[in-house]
Amino acid sequence: MILYKTEAIVLRDYDLGDQDKIVVFYSPKHGKIKVVAKGARRIKSRFAPLIQLLSYDILLIHKNRKKSLDTLNEGEIKYYFPQIKRDLVRFAYGCYLVESVDKFVGEREPHPGLFQLLLTTLFLLEKGPKYTLNLLMRSFELELLSILGYEPYLEGCVNCGKALELIESFYFSLKLGGFLCSSCQGVDKERIPISKKASLLMSELFFSSLKKVFQQKIDKSVEREIEMILRAYFFYQGQGKMFTPHFIYSFKRLECIRRDKEG
Ligand SMILES: [Zn+2]
Repeated sequence: MILYKTEAIVLRDYDLGDQDKIVVFYSPKHGKIKVVAKGARRIKSRFAPLIQLLSYDILLIHKNRKKSLDTLNEGEIKYYFPQIKRDLVRFAYGCYLVESVDKFVGEREPHPGLFQLLLTTLFLLEKGPKYTLNLLMRSFELELLSILGYEPYLEGCVNCGKALELIESFYFSLKLGGFLCSSCQGVDKERIPISKKASLLMSELFFSSLKKVFQQKIDKSVEREIEMILRAYFFYQGQGKMFTPHFIYSFKRLECIRRDKEG
């Protein structure tokens, strides 16, 4: 029997027959792995805490022969992110993080940098003040794209190379993956206009730390502009629609309604 030990984060699970589940984990060395958790559908399953969405575990997995799925042998939880699970908005953001990783990577494609990014972002989501969470998601999107080779060009015009500080009117090209200046905007008919403030902040978000970004006052409208552009680029590269953004807005709305009622 061959066993291997790995750190892993739960991306999702689905049922297998009446008793078992298939759990999709993301690990640093093996990438995305699908593992059978035997008896996991039973109420008192020993695997129940380990396979909760977002949990960060150390697992011992039984490697099966080619074509059949590996089996979960045992494991322990390293951290289960209680704050994220207690708060609907944080939880919706957490779902967005794991779904993004799930959608962007194939099985058994290891990207240790991406595992580290997911883990670090989950810890920031667990502990960070609420006003930082939206830009935390944007920073995650930029990093993920960069690790997987879709890094947008944010140092100047992607077409002529004009430096950021010399550009007056900015556009973003999904197709070319970067900013365009006013002289080059014609190269992409579907360019999206973006304000100078939002362009500079987006570049800063990518090149400096989040901590530094939050030392300045950030307008909500600028934050929304970056969200619109980056999500469009993220989905353009992800080649598909993701479910969670709608889910995030439903929860945000729910929270506002709740706050209105309480306050
Ligand atoms: Zn240009």
